[in-house]
Amino acid sequence: MPSTTFRVFRYQPDQGDPQPYHEDFNLEHDDKITLLDAILRLRNEQDGSLAVRYSCRSAICGSCACRADGRTVLACMEQVESLKERNGNGHVQVDPIGNFKPIKDLVVDLRPFWEKFKSVKPFLVPDGAAPQKERLVSKEAMQKIYNESKCILCAACYSECNSLAADPDFVGPAAFAWGFRFAADERDGQRRNRVKLYSGDHGVWDCTRCMFCNERCPKGVDPRDAIEKLGSIAFQEGVTRDKGARHAKAFLISMRTGGKLNETLLVPYTDPIGAPLDTPFALQMLRKGKAPSPLPHKIKQLDEVKKLMKNVKETI
Ligand code: SF4
Ligand code: SF4
Repeated sequence: MPSTTFRVFRYQPDQGDPQPYHEDFNLEHDDKITLLDAILRLRNEQDGSLAVRYSCRSAICGSCACRADGRTVLACMEQVESLKERNGNGHVQVDPIGNFKPIKDLVVDLRPFWEKFKSVKPFLVPDGAAPQKERLVSKEAMQKIYNESKCILCAACYSECNSLAADPDFVGPAAFAWGFRFAADERDGQRRNRVKLYSGDHGVWDCTRCMFCNERCPKGVDPRDAIEKLGSIAFQEGVTRDKGARHAKAFLISMRTGGKLNETLLVPYTDPIGAPLDTPFALQMLRKGKAPSPLPHKIKQLDEVKKLMKNVKETI
């Protein structure tokens, strides 16, 4: 029978332990045991004060998200033996999800997550009078929002988000996945207002595109893709005043006019008011040969680039 050491994050301010620490527990177990079942056995057999949040044990409720050896997972979806095989050192470290304040052991304060979820208006707001019966939607139309509809609000993506680590007010990947789910629902009448709401400070343009949310989402929601699609809707709806949108637009203009990125254009186009403040720095970079020439340039195959851009536009 395998035996595993679990290095578990402990934090019990109500028990006079104001500082967090890690505690080792040894457990003999079957070779097929999930991380959640192992944690529950530790609680039931070794320390009844170990706090953990869980409910369905079937990857549906999303309550048992935690970090196993630094990666956010649903504890009920992870086999202990697979985790050990992955880290190769015979023990498993268990921590609460990141970007949240721990309350007790593996339980965190989820209130900011729910506040941000509510802030994107995660419900349909149809235009016009209600129909006699239901509003019918084609299968093809529903297919466009199928991925985002799978979200179980487990906060695994939120835990891994680099933008949130830098800016705790960033709205976050899960909330934006829900935002897209409704912005792209053909029954909704608030498409433009939604992208205006999502494009402000701490909004979609503040995502660093690190892709961790896509990588760690246990349900394949791909929240980063949803954020990208919200950016596209913002462009389609003419909501492009935000610095992030202007930055993206500068890329487009640069590619369309020169066939390659003109970095010197990016700053003044993105932030025309603040850009003059960066002039001394830009001149210094030019002098040191660290900045590209500010003069317009065109590559020989500009027509090819334009064709590619047209193809991309037609496929999105
Ligand atoms: S997008 Fe994925 S990781 Fe994020 S809350 Fe939804 S199911 Fe969980
Ligand atoms: S891609 Fe964006 S939303 Fe997703 S984890 Fe990275 S910074 Fe956060």
